[in-house]
Amino acid sequence: MTINFENSFKTLPKFLWEEVKPTPILNPKLIHITKLKNDLGINLSDEDLKLWLNGEKFLEGEQRIATRYAGHQFGVWAGQLGDGRAISMGEINTPNLGRQEIQTKGSGKTPFSRMGDGKAVIRSSVREYLASEAMAALSIPTTRVLALLTGDDKVYRETIEKSAIVARVFPSNLRFGHFEMCFHFKKTTELDALIHYAQSTFFPGMSMEEMLADIISKTAKLMAQWQGVGFCHGVMNSDNMSLLSLTLDYGPYGFLEDTDFNYICNHTDQQGRYAYGQQPSIGMWNLERLLICFMNHFPKEKLQELLNVYPQEFEKEYLKIARLKLGLELKQEQDYQLWANLLKVMDQLKLDYTYLFRQLSSYQKSNKESLQGIWDYYGNRQELIDWLKIYDERLNLESISDEERSLLMKTVNPKYVLKNYIAQEVIAEVEEGKDLKLNSWLNILYSPFEEHPDFHSYSGPTPSEHKHYEVSCSS
Ligand code: AMP
Ligand code: MG
Repeated sequence: MTINFENSFKTLPKFLWEEVKPTPILNPKLIHITKLKNDLGINLSDEDLKLWLNGEKFLEGEQRIATRYAGHQFGVWAGQLGDGRAISMGEINTPNLGRQEIQTKGSGKTPFSRMGDGKAVIRSSVREYLASEAMAALSIPTTRVLALLTGDDKVYRETIEKSAIVARVFPSNLRFGHFEMCFHFKKTTELDALIHYAQSTFFPGMSMEEMLADIISKTAKLMAQWQGVGFCHGVMNSDNMSLLSLTLDYGPYGFLEDTDFNYICNHTDQQGRYAYGQQPSIGMWNLERLLICFMNHFPKEKLQELLNVYPQEFEKEYLKIARLKLGLELKQEQDYQLWANLLKVMDQLKLDYTYLFRQLSSYQKSNKESLQGIWDYYGNRQELIDWLKIYDERLNLESISDEERSLLMKTVNPKYVLKNYIAQEVIAEVEEGKDLKLNSWLNILYSPFEEHPDFHSYSGPTPSEHKHYEVSCSS
């Protein structure tokens, strides 16, 4: 097998990385491979792929590394963190996807593991696996996955669990935290080398200022997309922020079920710093942490000026998404208010976020009965009926028919999202060594706008026994 493999991160000063030998997991089992294997042109047999990802087999010239980064966790400077359990294998240049780095998460201790064991458990690995692919199918920038391995090691968390490895794929692992690491430890030469590497590799043709403006704008857009689909990340620490504005490090994330601006998906986040409604402002706070690292290159006022664009960029994208979700083609002054009023009603009545928008996608103007699913489930709610009257007036300005609008809305309002209880069903099976549900759910999550009639019951409001499923940082 020949793969033209390189690891460009190794061109950076040694401060930023260390060579690492992966620790294979015990009795590895290849549970799943995505189609990225083909896209990346990896022509290994399943057995060789398993051995390679598990660190039992190496390609010629391959050298695996872990990188050093730092970060602000829950608003507090946390110092050095680094890849404590993720090992970068290197990058492949592909005709269709450009350069893509492969990294294994759960490959054992690295020099940056601190007190950790370098392992990952099946539970969190399956969650990362499913969510990565689900977000990609929702057209939200994200890291991707190549394969999932499970093993028989005993991993000590709240209970004893089994090990797993997720092979992640992304153009780059660069995080805000890599820059913070150099800046706060006064490694000026290393910081400049890192900036140059990022700029020339991922923002070619852009000046440093243009690169920052691009990062700010793309981060704002990502936040708008998260809000639009009801995704709550749960651990928006600056070390989990991607320089390429990808959704990165899936941990205790959650998709909104009952609409709630104060939804906290991470059980460990008692203050609600990373609650659903906080995400856009936290995105900006994290960008500020990144911009500080450029203080040797720009005056403070310039950095502030760049950051000041963030709220407008966010609002612009968010309003665009709002119009799409409401099926509005024309741009009217009152659209944002209409959207905000609906969210207020949804929050007040605790309506299922995904279900409401999917139902609304079948709404016929001035025909309350077309929302029968909602009334059946929630009863005749006057607040929503009042809102629909205003929506009717707004729809009267549009020229498309109910049918046309419905078709369009069903391409932006998914029928299925990865609710925690669904992930839990898949996890329970994978923990028993089975992959049936993993396969069928991946199939649905790859096409979440399709009907999938056999799974219809999963598209309704979350059954009460499955609500308030608690997920913590433990992984
Ligand atoms: P996270 O909260 O998962 O984003 O992790 C924060 C930091 O801790 C990252 O740098 C991880 O690499 C590291 N980390 C998390 N879990 C472990 C573990 N079990 N062993 C070693 N390092 C870990
Ligand atoms: Mg992380």
